[in-house]
Amino acid sequence: MLIAVDDDPIAAQAAEVGMDLARTLNAEVALIHAIDPSLIFAPEAGIAADELALRAEQDGARLMADFRARLPATTHVLQFIPQGPPGSEIVKAAREWAADLIVIGSHGRHGITRALVGSVADAVMREASCPVLVVRAKE
Ligand code: AMP
Repeated sequence: MLIAVDDDPIAAQAAEVGMDLARTLNAEVALIHAIDPSLIFAPEAGIAADELALRAEQDGARLMADFRARLPATTHVLQFIPQGPPGSEIVKAAREWAADLIVIGSHGRHGITRALVGSVADAVMREASCPVLVVRAKE
């Protein structure tokens, strides 16, 4: 089971649902967080592109560490932190790792960023070669 995570609370809910399901099914789990180049290389006054890329990598590693820290110490999970458009990277990792299920939040980014880069969940649902479980925010 491949669980896609970003820094939005909905991804944390998706991870919770995915981990519960994985425990029930005794399934192997991998977490994926893609570092989105379109966000790294957005023009941002005064910060060099390589500095932004380094910060994005550190943020990605920290995010993944936070997710893993919330799991019981005995839980074994793999982690993937690829660089590239999140939708394609999730679909690619699922294919290469031969995932049986992708678990993803229904939305993460908001406003102008989402309008510019599109919805990761939509891209994954359209392109994935395995079933996709989309977790909506709790009302
Ligand atoms: P979106 O459709 O872009 O609003 O995002 C929906 C869900 O996609 C999030 O709740 C996460 O589960 C996943 N997601 C978004 N961005 C990333 C990312 N950079 N890496 C991995 N998963 C992501």
